[in-house]
Amino acid sequence: MATLEIKDLHVEIDGKEILKGVNLTINTNEIHAIMGPNGTGKSTLASAIMGHPKYEVTSGEIILDGENVLEMEVDERAQAGLFLAMQYPSEIPGVTNADFLRSAINARREEGQEISLMKFIRELDKTMEFLEMPEEMSQRYLNEGFSGGEKKRNEILQMMMIKPTFGILDEIDSGLDIDALKVVSKGINEMRGEGFGCLMITHYQRLLNYITPDHVHVMMQGKVVKSGGAELAQRLEAEGYEWIKAELGIQD
Ligand code: ADP
Ligand code: MG
Ligand code: MG
Repeated sequence: MATLEIKDLHVEIDGKEILKGVNLTINTNEIHAIMGPNGTGKSTLASAIMGHPKYEVTSGEIILDGENVLEMEVDERAQAGLFLAMQYPSEIPGVTNADFLRSAINARREEGQEISLMKFIRELDKTMEFLEMPEEMSQRYLNEGFSGGEKKRNEILQMMMIKPTFGILDEIDSGLDIDALKVVSKGINEMRGEGFGCLMITHYQRLLNYITPDHVHVMMQGKVVKSGGAELAQRLEAEGYEWIKAELGIQD
């Protein structure tokens, strides 16, 4: 079992404190959902875990299996088993999807243990078929001209191929039609298991109709203010966030 621990994390952007003491522990074999109103710091948390340079951690800890993640460079975090699917994936002209994936897989392997081209292609074909992606997508430049739905599907393809220990998915459900949502969910459910833990950030309960989370957390004003099981997401869907604000005495 692997564990990702976030302890009393404070993060600033341009000198403004956005995260004000986030605590969260995720184990492999668990799917966690973070929900919360817009602008409460959910994407900031994802970016801070992955080491985006704009997000300054002023105090607190991020520990992956006893290792201090905050001391790692971005590529070292990926090598250590962290994967981030961003809310707005960037385009990388000139690099094909397949080339990108193969280098990302090999970056996590020891020298001399690189995946063979044959094995890579077999696995890529199989995974793309599973995600109902057209074959030509593997030769397109990364995210260039991809529709919103194609980008999200592609992020799941990356995750399934790279096989991280922890996946952090920021609004992987946004802008998806129902068919794409089902495929994306199928991919995440396929990864569910002993070697994998997941943090799904979402604004809507809809995704959670297809992926039942083990734990649900509500983030407000830069903190995790409430945690529960899958039933918490259902209550949020039915009643919104006001009752939590009232319960905790949070003012807008
Ligand atoms: P959420 O994902 O919950 O909607 P974000 O983490 O994106 O929230 O944003 C939290 C707060 O941080 C917001 O007030 C937002 O305006 C601010 N913020 C986020 N990213 C940046 C940035 N790159 N520069 C300045 N402010 C930012
Ligand atoms: Mg947002
Ligand atoms: Mg966000």
